[in-house]
Amino acid sequence: DRRGAAETFRTANLEKNLTSPTHASLDLENLRFGQTFTDHLLTVEHTVGQGWGRPQIRALADGLHVHPAAPVLHYGMCCFEGMKAYLGVDGRGRLFRPDMNMDRLHRSSRRLLLADYEPDELLECLKELLRVERAWLPEREGYSLYIRPFMFSSGHSIGIGRPTSTTIAIMLSPVGPYFQTGLTPIKLFLDERHVRAWPGGVGDCKVGSNYAPTIHPQITAHETHGTPQVLYTMPSSSSSKDDAIVSESGAMNVFFVLDKEDGSGQQLITPPLDGTILPGVTRDSILRLARHWADYEVSEARITIGRLRKAAAEGRLREIFGCGTACIVQPINGLVRADGETLEAPFDASNITSMTARMTRALTDIQYARVPSDWSVPF
Ligand code: PMP
Repeated sequence: DRRGAAETFRTANLEKNLTSPTHASLDLENLRFGQTFTDHLLTVEHTVGQGWGRPQIRALADGLHVHPAAPVLHYGMCCFEGMKAYLGVDGRGRLFRPDMNMDRLHRSSRRLLLADYEPDELLECLKELLRVERAWLPEREGYSLYIRPFMFSSGHSIGIGRPTSTTIAIMLSPVGPYFQTGLTPIKLFLDERHVRAWPGGVGDCKVGSNYAPTIHPQITAHETHGTPQVLYTMPSSSSSKDDAIVSESGAMNVFFVLDKEDGSGQQLITPPLDGTILPGVTRDSILRLARHWADYEVSEARITIGRLRKAAAEGRLREIFGCGTACIVQPINGLVRADGETLEAPFDASNITSMTARMTRALTDIQYARVPSDWSVPF
């Protein structure tokens, strides 16, 4: 329920304490993902007993004041979001389905018992921050302003218990294409040893504790196999590795295009939201778009490694792509296993009718407002 939180902060009470702008020094050529930030930070703080303070937009350089005992520093009591603002071809700044990110942050924060609030108020505060930082919106295709809302337990006690203080903050970072290789395909390491999330866990929430343990496998895979990201799997109770099921990547959901075994066309498949997978905004958008395209059978279904190996061996594994706010759509041309076996999926960048290419175009047409859509929300 988006409304009816017992107490919330209000955008109407927003305070601005602005600093001098530095966007003139922005160098789009040398942008590295997540390393450049705009001048201002939005913050709002809650303390049990006192309730929410006023939302503030203030200098990012002033940082955040966190007590050494803050539970976020010890127990990882934090959650976050990733969204983007685009400069539309109509000259307006635009968000893509921001209500979905706001709902997901709210859900993640409720899982951690952080202070409750109304997601719509946070969205209005974000729009105000974006209007302040409007000049940072890059005017270039493929570029955008990455938005990082985050929320954590900021109290003064290392006791493990209900949070006594909550901080919400939003920072902005101008970004270009996510992977340094740009729109060329990458290979993923098919990790059959580490498990990202499990039944009964928090894989469907965007909490920090889902991410910290994934850095080591990702770096090891990169060093060993040259794969920039990992595709996680869930082992089955049988001893056969072929029965393990595909989960998702460290920061992307994953889709497969397969020729159907009976030769009656192609299917687009992604793992179902069974609680172990983050419900991606991009994933949901792709499913909704694809269901309107008559030429594919679309399904959310469990995909075993065995099924992928069989399809690859029979030449029916047509496309693999990852998707997420950061990369939008990332073509994947193979899954590399620990023993070196690679499940190849061809990717032909000149094939403009591939699902990967069509979906990239459909999403970016909406994001940059070349095609009108309710999903694109001006600010
Ligand atoms: N899975 C994980 C684990 C992620 O961190 C992300 C990025 N938020 C995604 C999938 C993609 O989600 P979205 O499309 O909402 O960015």
